[in-house]
Amino acid sequence: MLEEKNQEKTSLESLGEFGLIDHLTKDFPINHESTIKGIGDDAAVLDFKDKKTIVSTDLLVEGVHFDLSYMPLKHLGYKAVMVNLSDIYAMNAKATQITVSIAVSNRFPLEALEELYEGIALAAKAHKVDLVGGDTTSSRTGMLISITAIGEAKSEEIVYRSGAKPNDLLVVSGDLGGAYMGFQVLEREKEVFKVNPNSQPDLEPYSYIVERQLKPEARQDIVALLKSLDVHPTSMIDISDGLSSEILHLCKNSNVGCNLYEDKIPLDPTVISSCEEFKLDSTLVALSGGEDYELLFTIDQKEFPKIKGNPNLTVVGHTTDMNEGAFLISRNNSKIPLTAQGWNSFAKA
Ligand SMILES: [Mg+2]
Repeated sequence: MLEEKNQEKTSLESLGEFGLIDHLTKDFPINHESTIKGIGDDAAVLDFKDKKTIVSTDLLVEGVHFDLSYMPLKHLGYKAVMVNLSDIYAMNAKATQITVSIAVSNRFPLEALEELYEGIALAAKAHKVDLVGGDTTSSRTGMLISITAIGEAKSEEIVYRSGAKPNDLLVVSGDLGGAYMGFQVLEREKEVFKVNPNSQPDLEPYSYIVERQLKPEARQDIVALLKSLDVHPTSMIDISDGLSSEILHLCKNSNVGCNLYEDKIPLDPTVISSCEEFKLDSTLVALSGGEDYELLFTIDQKEFPKIKGNPNLTVVGHTTDMNEGAFLISRNNSKIPLTAQGWNSFAKA
C-alpha cells in the first residue's frame, strides 16, 4: 500500500534545480507595470519611478515557526506570504512583488511543493503581487521558507513607527488573540491524535480562531480604508508578536508613553469562550499571543470623527508624554506597567 503510494509521487531529484523552479513558478502571472523583468534572468528588474521602494523579508523555519503536523502546506504557503505583506502594509504602502526561497529535504515529493506553491499563488493573486524571483535548495532536516516582499509608496504616504506624538489615539484593526487561541486548539487536537489516531476532531466551534491561526489575512483593506477615510496615521506597526510588545515598539520609537485600556481591547466571542475553556486570561492572550497580523496605529485626536463607529477600527487608548510611562489600565482601574511578554509567560502563568 505504502509503496504504491510512493510510486505516484515525483522525487525532487528527477527535476533538477532549474526544472523545479520552472515547474513551480510557470503559472505565476506578472501584473505590475513596475515589474520590468521577473523570473528568468539572473535578477529581477523593478522600476518604481517617482515612488519609494519598501522591502521586508522574513524567514520561517519548520519546528520553530510552523508545525506541518497540522499546518497543511497550502495554508503554509499562503500564511508565509501574508506575514510578509503585513509588514509592507504596516508602512502604509502597497505590496507589488515577492520573492520566495525554500529549502527542503528529499522527504518532500514534488507534489508537496506544488501544494505549497498553490497557497503562495492564492495569496499572490488575492493581494495582486508578482512573484519575481527566489531560490530552491536542499535541507538536511526541516523545511525553511524565506520570503521577501517589495512594495511602493509615495514618500509622504509612508508611515513609520516613530511618528506618534503625546495625546494621539491608539487604534487597532479587527480583533486580537484569535490566532493564539487557534494555536491552542490545534495543539490540543495534536495531543489527542497522538493518543488516538482515529479521533475525528470537531473543530467547527473553533473555526474562526483556527482560521486566524492557519489562514491569516494581511490587512491591505485597512490601508485602503484609511486612505478612503482620509485618515493619516502618525505611526503604525503590524501586530505579529502581540499587542503589548507592538505598542512598546511604537512608544519607544516615537518617544512617547501610553495608556492602553483593558476594556477596549477588541476580542471575538470565540476568543473569550475558548479562553474560558483553556483557563487563560483573554487580556493576556491579546497582549502576548501574537500572529494576529492586525494593524496598530496612532492618529491625531482631530481625526477621531473620521473613524468613529467604524466596525473595523477600535480606539484602545492614547499616547502620553514619554516620562509618564506605558501602562495597561485594567477593568478595575488599576495601572499596570506594560511589558513585552513573550509567550513563555503563558507557561509560567
Ligand atoms: Mg512587522
